[in-house]
Amino acid sequence: MNLILLGPPGCGKGTQATYLVEKYGYVQLSTGDMLRDAIKNNTTTGKIVKDVLASGKLVDNELILQIMKDKIEETKASPGRIFDGFPRTLAQAEGLNALLSQNNLSIDLLIELVVDREELFERIQKRASESASVRDDDNADVLGKRLDVYNQETKPIISYYERDYFVNKIDGMQDIKTVNMLIDKLVASGTKQ
Ligand code: AMP
Repeated sequence: MNLILLGPPGCGKGTQATYLVEKYGYVQLSTGDMLRDAIKNNTTTGKIVKDVLASGKLVDNELILQIMKDKIEETKASPGRIFDGFPRTLAQAEGLNALLSQNNLSIDLLIELVVDREELFERIQKRASESASVRDDDNADVLGKRLDVYNQETKPIISYYERDYFVNKIDGMQDIKTVNMLIDKLVASGTKQ
């Protein structure tokens, strides 16, 4: 099962991915988490991307695709992968198609979590006030930038996918458990095929 979770920052992709990891044993491939780990460990990649993350802009497609290439190969034996925060640009979506076909894999399910802008600001502010290690980019200024980047660069990939796939839209304004249940239904029916 290869599932792509789409939606703006703060829409709940990470929370829902964690649930699927626990229930189905899938791996969560979150490029945001990978980049934050690289920064924390002060690796070469971490040094390159630190300021980019703090600014809310996107990291170079080539670097992201190189990281993803390695991750897809490393997780070949996994029963499933949840792509969370990737792809974020058309070039990444095209790169993912190539990587999947090189590994005899395909996209099985696409889900978009739909949440309105005001709610996203409230959630990110709440996350920043609760989090023990506050993310550099969890503040109103950078969130505004991240949402603009999402609308300009990431949203177009939804219509790109809609040319060849059905993109399941879920109202992400509902409570976490309801969203869980709706995603679970889609994954369960996708798994049986
Ligand atoms: P996230 O945790 O998914 O919200 O990602 C946090 C930040 O990491 C983003 O604002 C970008 O700066 C960077 N990032 C994460 N995933 C990607 C990606 N697929 N392409 C480019 N930049 C990314």
